Amino acid sequence: MNIFWFRRDLRLEDNTGLFHALNSGEEVLPIFIFDDSILSQLPKDDARVTFIHQQLEKIQSQLQSIGKSLAIFHGTPFEVYKKLVSENEVKSIYTNHDYEPYARKRDLDLYHLFKEHNIEFKTSKDQVIFEKSEIVKDDGTPYVVYTPYSNKWKTVFKSIELINYKSEDYLSKIALHSYPFLSLSDIGFEKSEIQVSNYDISNNLIDNYEATRNFPALNKTSYLGIYLRFGAVSVRKMVSKALESKNETFLKELIWREFFMQILWHFPHTNKSSFRPKYDAIKWENNEILFKKWCEGKTGYPFVDAGMRELNKTGHMHNRVRMITASFLCKHLLIDWRWGETYFATKLLDYEQASNVGNWQWAAGSGVDAAPYFRIFNPTEQIKKFDKELKYIKKWIPELETLHYPTPIVDHKEARERCLRVYKEAVG
Ligand SMILES: Cc1cc2nc3c(=O)[nH]c(=O)nc-3n(C[C@H](O)[C@H](O)[C@H](O)COP(=O)(O)OP(=O)(O)OC[C@H]3O[C@@H](n4cnc5c(N)ncnc54)[C@H](O)[C@@H]3O)c2cc1C
Repeated sequence: MNIFWFRRDLRLEDNTGLFHALNSGEEVLPIFIFDDSILSQLPKDDARVTFIHQQLEKIQSQLQSIGKSLAIFHGTPFEVYKKLVSENEVKSIYTNHDYEPYARKRDLDLYHLFKEHNIEFKTSKDQVIFEKSEIVKDDGTPYVVYTPYSNKWKTVFKSIELINYKSEDYLSKIALHSYPFLSLSDIGFEKSEIQVSNYDISNNLIDNYEATRNFPALNKTSYLGIYLRFGAVSVRKMVSKALESKNETFLKELIWREFFMQILWHFPHTNKSSFRPKYDAIKWENNEILFKKWCEGKTGYPFVDAGMRELNKTGHMHNRVRMITASFLCKHLLIDWRWGETYFATKLLDYEQASNVGNWQWAAGSGVDAAPYFRIFNPTEQIKKFDKELKYIKKWIPELETLHYPTPIVDHKEARERCLRVYKEAVG
């Protein structure tokens, strides 16, 4: 028997690793593991866990309609596999690549375990079009600037065939088994109150994306983030869809995602350290009271507060507002980008380490392709450009024009000058 291990690819359709497993000539046990080393750090009603479980239920009902089922386990992958390989004669374990530093270590440990048991660990690329060193400079080194990376991405893309792995056509190869399909409560979790928005990749949205994407009140972004994060949709299909439009801006966003993924792959230490080492010498103020006000959306800067309240309530924040809130934390409050990155990681439905770290470092000025640190967003000017009728802001701050809304916790001009001084001391 072979095993197919679902991870960030929670779908039966166009799933590379699943396709290979089902075409291996052996029966396939499909499994998912709720990894306790990740779950133990999350609140019991974490919305991402609910979302994952809902995707697994979808897979389960598709499998049940043909008399098959998905096995769900709870524990660390190492413990789960030790037991699984002792109970079954497993030849190969198939899965799709996962590039985050934690996942790389986990997979290496498992590779050794499987080797001891003479089991092959067969992994495929699935969640990106290009991975690892597939898009590098002519001298073989990674790109650290987006535009040349994306140009090369598009050139190489023209030379490849985008395959649709029709894994859904081979489900008869799935093995009958008696492992359970665990419920949320079986793993000690409960359903989140947060509703995940449906995604929108209509021609209308993509064709107009460039003109509408920067205005949070319009709500004209795709909401694909969480679906891509957990592989509930195939990235190949999303890219094909993006290519149907003459407007390339949406495609460019999907390439940003892969840009940051390859950055974290080549520079895994940047999940904790600044990409530009000098930036780790910045003397952050790290004022805990101000940090709390930022988290709660009580800074007295309406764009920042609206964004943080949207995040706390929905698990989502519009990209323009993510940029404003992140910049405000690092530059106006002089709080270490890692504090903000961690807070976003606990709240964002679409939390993705590569994109979160990459974008936070971009906002702090310490990352790849970051704007020079002396370009500091003015959160009030940003309102004039991107929410001049205050529609987005008032949605999240109904008390905006009353005495209940706080006065600014820092003065923009003073904060800006302090930031320039402190950054200059560190990075020159
Ligand atoms: C401080 C900060 C933190 C962020 N953290 C994350 C994160 O944890 N996870 C995440 O997926 N995105 C992150 N982003 C990028 C971006 O804000 C989100 O991808 C986007 O807002 C998600 O909404 P959407 O799916 O409607 O995006 P759309 O605008 O519809 O874009 C489509 C898809 O393109 C990709 N994309 C778009 N912009 C970016 C970008 N700047 N970087 C990387 N990929 C991008 C995403 O996969 C997104 O789902 C962050 C941005 C900032 C400024």
